[in-house]
Amino acid sequence: MPDVVVVGSGPNGLAAAVILARAGLTVEVYEAQATAGGGSRTAELTLPGYRHDVCAGAHPMALASPFFRTFDLAAHGVELLAPEVSYAHPLDGGTAGVAWRDLDRTAAGLGRDGAAWRALFEPMIRHWQQVVEFAMSDLRRPPADLLTGLRFGLRVLEQGSPLWNLRFREQAAPALLTGVATHAITPPRAIPAAGAGMLLATLAHAGGWVLPRGGSQAIPDALIAELERLGGKLVTGHRVESLDEFGSARAVVLDTAPAELLRMAGDRLPDHYAKGLRRFRYGGAACKVDFALSGPVPWQAPGCELAGTLHLVGTRAEAMAVEKTIAAGQHADRPYVLAIQPGVVDSTRAPAGGHTLYTYAHVPNGSTRDISAAVIAQVERFAPGFTDLILAKNVVTGAEMPTHNANYIGGDISAGAVTLRQFAFRPVPRWNPYATPLPGVYLCSASTPPGPGVHGMSGMHAARHVLRKEFGIHTDPRDLLRASR
Ligand SMILES: Cc1cc2nc3c(=O)[nH]c(=O)nc-3n(C[C@H](O)[C@H](O)[C@H](O)COP(=O)(O)OP(=O)(O)OC[C@H]3O[C@@H](n4cnc5c(N)ncnc54)[C@H](O)[C@@H]3O)c2cc1C
Repeated sequence: MPDVVVVGSGPNGLAAAVILARAGLTVEVYEAQATAGGGSRTAELTLPGYRHDVCAGAHPMALASPFFRTFDLAAHGVELLAPEVSYAHPLDGGTAGVAWRDLDRTAAGLGRDGAAWRALFEPMIRHWQQVVEFAMSDLRRPPADLLTGLRFGLRVLEQGSPLWNLRFREQAAPALLTGVATHAITPPRAIPAAGAGMLLATLAHAGGWVLPRGGSQAIPDALIAELERLGGKLVTGHRVESLDEFGSARAVVLDTAPAELLRMAGDRLPDHYAKGLRRFRYGGAACKVDFALSGPVPWQAPGCELAGTLHLVGTRAEAMAVEKTIAAGQHADRPYVLAIQPGVVDSTRAPAGGHTLYTYAHVPNGSTRDISAAVIAQVERFAPGFTDLILAKNVVTGAEMPTHNANYIGGDISAGAVTLRQFAFRPVPRWNPYATPLPGVYLCSASTPPGPGVHGMSGMHAARHVLRKEFGIHTDPRDLLRASR
């Protein structure tokens, strides 16, 4: 048996594995699927030569997270390409809110709300590293930079409350911000959604919403190469059924949902903890629809053709209504659609002349409905003529999502509803959310703080505890990563 077994090869599992291997421990990673990378994989889902990101597509957090900044993806051969427009939000009538990487240009395009946008984001952008340190921490201690933490917190409170329209006078700016907050698949006027929205919108103007050349798979591939260089081992196609499989490893680190921990632990968990895990709520889901296209999407509004990511839902009020429908367990006629067009920066995703379009639409948890017709209608609403470009499509419903990744229960791509309670208390209210009551068994998935996203931070926080408690190693994980270069 190795010193440490990691179950699951998502970004968090691999982050933990690399840190632990860097500390000199022997590490083996077991992955249920035939390919590694969890929510950061790329595959030919439609036609030969058309490479689609299976889950995550845009990576502001892989650029900005303390784990990845220290690991240094670029030094490991990953090229992160930054579209000139981080994200855009088309509205009816051929206009759009456009979040350029450049803040001035963004403000200039937002009419009478330009100054309000600048006032909201300028201080955050100036201190983006401190914002990230706080937002991607284990959420167990106050921010090191109190003033930035306070500024960020006040903005989140404003955008998560009935005050959210106070500073805006037109349609585009509030819609632009709401499109980002709605990533949380929850009605966007809420504190956790506003927190995610403020963080991601800040990063749009800091480093940008980058896309890896060749696809998201490049990120786990770099981590796996490093793990193997350090002597670690990856086993794919092995779904772990029971924790008993690894009885003699000194630590087991689970990059899994709480439901999977319950299943693998059998009756070994104490009642109160098992009850807490059973109470953990899974949230709204995504129906993923990928397209192979014969040309670029003919967006009506200027600026959209340069955007890496687009949010298709209409006004702020419409987004709110749509997400309330989803939260009530129903499908929306015109759902929130997140679209990514990698072709704006990366010509390797499709054969010459061809393009890929990545989309997912919000649906209720457990939805079995193929909603590709509603997705096509929503793209067509803002890009007339889109339908004529479709060569092929691939649909994964919410209910089918767990067959690709057991962590996405009912299609919940956040691995747990992003509610106020589950924001900090993920998966159960505990001071150390990564440790479990079972000796040597830890959780490191997006079901622990700081939550969803390809950032590797849950893996890094969990690894810190494993090193200290199981091996008496007190070196900071970042120092271990720096030393590995
Ligand atoms: C459709 C979709 C779109 C997304 N878009 C973005 C985006 O654009 N940007 C972004 O930053 N994030 C995005 N995300 C979220 C992001 O992908 C996840 O938050 C992130 O991958 C979580 O990483 P993780 O390591 O915690 O778990 P995952 O990446 O989910 O990996 C968990 C791994 O554990 C494996 N596993 C589970 N149980 C077992 C078992 N019993 N035995 C063995 N292996 C097991 C799974 O197969 C999986 O490979 C998206 C997710 C989805 C699904």
